[in-house]
Amino acid sequence: MFKKILIANRGEIALRIQRACREMGVQAVVVYSEADREAKYVKLAEEAVCIGPAASAHSYLSMPAIISAAEVTDAEAIHPGYGFLSENADFAERVEKSGFQFIGPTPESIRIMGDKVSAKQAMIKAGVPCVPGSEGELPDDPAQIRRIAKSVGYPVIIKAAGGGGGRGMRVVHTEAALIHAVQTTKAEAGAAFGNPAVYMEKFLQNPRHIEIQVLADQHRNAVYLGERDCSMQRRHQKVIEEAPAPGIPRKLIDKIGERCVAACKRIGYRGAGTFEFLYEKGEFYFIEMNTRVQVEHPVTEFITGIDIVKTQIMVAAGEKLPFTQRQISIHGHALECRINAEDPFKFTPSPGRITMWHAPGGPGVRVDSHVYTNYFVPPHYDSMIGKIIVHGDTREQAIARMRTALAEMVVEGINTNVPLHRELMVDAKFMEGGTNIHYLEHWLADHKR
Ligand code: ADP
Repeated sequence: MFKKILIANRGEIALRIQRACREMGVQAVVVYSEADREAKYVKLAEEAVCIGPAASAHSYLSMPAIISAAEVTDAEAIHPGYGFLSENADFAERVEKSGFQFIGPTPESIRIMGDKVSAKQAMIKAGVPCVPGSEGELPDDPAQIRRIAKSVGYPVIIKAAGGGGGRGMRVVHTEAALIHAVQTTKAEAGAAFGNPAVYMEKFLQNPRHIEIQVLADQHRNAVYLGERDCSMQRRHQKVIEEAPAPGIPRKLIDKIGERCVAACKRIGYRGAGTFEFLYEKGEFYFIEMNTRVQVEHPVTEFITGIDIVKTQIMVAAGEKLPFTQRQISIHGHALECRINAEDPFKFTPSPGRITMWHAPGGPGVRVDSHVYTNYFVPPHYDSMIGKIIVHGDTREQAIARMRTALAEMVVEGINTNVPLHRELMVDAKFMEGGTNIHYLEHWLADHKR
């Protein structure tokens, strides 16, 4: 096992990884920007290195700054968390070339999966069902593009091969709008992701977002830890996640889970990963793979009892997965609400000083957050300041626990979306379960204030 790991991230995930290291008896080095000096994981750290100014381009996204922090502290491995450099194949390569272990898959796996076109091609080869669409990147010839769209069938969605974070997508309903949409998406993708390649998919009308968590070691063992339902989204960004997915037969999940495991073995995948699918009328359609730990990993930890972050570290150190597929079982139901520093109904960011933070507790309640009373939420980063995760024997019990937890949650000094979550937890359709990816947007439009 490693003696020392450097955590190349910030926020709640930096604290989450620090906690895993503590439990494993591994020393953790944290890095921070000048804006993050006051974060909980920095205060708790035995070793902390300032890697630059607030702007992430010069701190959390600076490969030289992070690698030199690992050098000066004698760390052996680097955990990238999520976001920032976590899915950057060049970073993974530089980490390994500098003599450190990257806690994640190989640079080659990240490269294949980071390009959505090559990821889809790899999945088709591995027998994972994909959304019907163009075979690879769209050509330049308008006549050919029209022909492809016709055969896929309208509405279609134009997506950037290098896209992420819900950006670089455009839905097209008619042939008249097609070519302009392709050109605009291409131009935006070139500017935002440095890769103008786009592809086309059938736009599914009312799907749910269902994803499969996998874990793989370096000895060709791989398992899936069930699914998560992340259909409660706003602007293609997840707001509430849960596991298991209400109403989907276990048989179907097992079938798709086994396909994901087979794909992992085929591409020599190692570490934690998530296969994201759209699910409509009993069918799964692969959309992309995330080659890192995800924000919503705790719901899976609750229902399986498996520590995903610790397992990531173990397999990066070369250990075998400590369980087989048969030993993994699912217990009860878990929900996660992402707590964002923003206006709950207008969504304007609300950074600033938290004058009071009182987190909920009790049986089956977990709060992952790096903030505390008197903490200043910096304006430079993502608005998520924490997550409330609950576990219950049934979905009803989990929802009741989440209501209690949200009622106990006190945040003063800044706005948060806690009031939105409180309303969603008593919404009849949400309580029924199985809402699709448009449900929350429609709900918000109906509850404008
Ligand atoms: P990103 O990498 O930006 O998260 P994804 O490919 O994972 O992009 O898609 C994000 C979300 O966009 C999905 O969860 C879904 O809500 C929507 N989406 C993507 N592809 C389609 C599609 N073919 N049909 C309908 N909705 C889609």
